[in-house]
Amino acid sequence: MKCKNCGGVFSDELEKCPYCGTMNKRGAYKKYRQKIRDIIDRVFGLKAEAYNSISKLILMSILRGLVMIAIVIGLAFTFSRFMKVNYYNDPEYDQEALEDILWEEENLDKLNEAFENNDFETVNKLYYQNTHVVSKWPHYDAFCMRKEYQDVLKDFDYSYFSSYQLTDVLYFLYNPQYFCNPLRWTQDDWNEYEEDRQEILRLMQEKDYSEQELSEIYQTNADEYGYLSSSKLDKYLKEGN
Ligand SMILES: [Zn+2]
Repeated sequence: MKCKNCGGVFSDELEKCPYCGTMNKRGAYKKYRQKIRDIIDRVFGLKAEAYNSISKLILMSILRGLVMIAIVIGLAFTFSRFMKVNYYNDPEYDQEALEDILWEEENLDKLNEAFENNDFETVNKLYYQNTHVVSKWPHYDAFCMRKEYQDVLKDFDYSYFSSYQLTDVLYFLYNPQYFCNPLRWTQDDWNEYEEDRQEILRLMQEKDYSEQELSEIYQTNADEYGYLSSSKLDKYLKEGN
């Protein structure tokens, strides 16, 4: 283009005439718009950069968290495997397991037979030989209860109920759940238990205690732990006589 002031020829992209310095409106305007565009680009660039760095920060903290969790799980897994391997490699464990299997093969039938025949002496003997196996035996829960009151009845003095004996027997009769897990009892186990219970109650009735009386003694004398208080029972027996 041609300068209006000095007539010099120059590119219309220029802001001023390179010869006399007169302002070139078109060039100045173009330059101004370019500057505005640069500023807008820079603002958007900064925004994108900030967005990227924030996303990167969030991503990094998530990754760091995941890595930490993975490390913890890995350590726990390794530790548990290490412990397990040690346990199963323990020759004492092998020996114990082998003894259990051999004992079960030799004695389980005897145990079942003795239980069915009410031979509690034999069951008792086997019971203490191998508690590992016996605790998995299906009659274990029913037997541990019967064992408790059979042990008491064995030394029971039927000519006189001492308050101590009475306490024990009533305790077994009214609280089977304290000795074992009654949920594992079969219907047969419950029937046997009921038969035993009736037999013991019959013996008690011979001594002039009715079932209702006994349950009343039990209820009114039970302290907060459910045990019969022997001093209260003594008092009752004296007053009763
Ligand atoms: Zn000029």
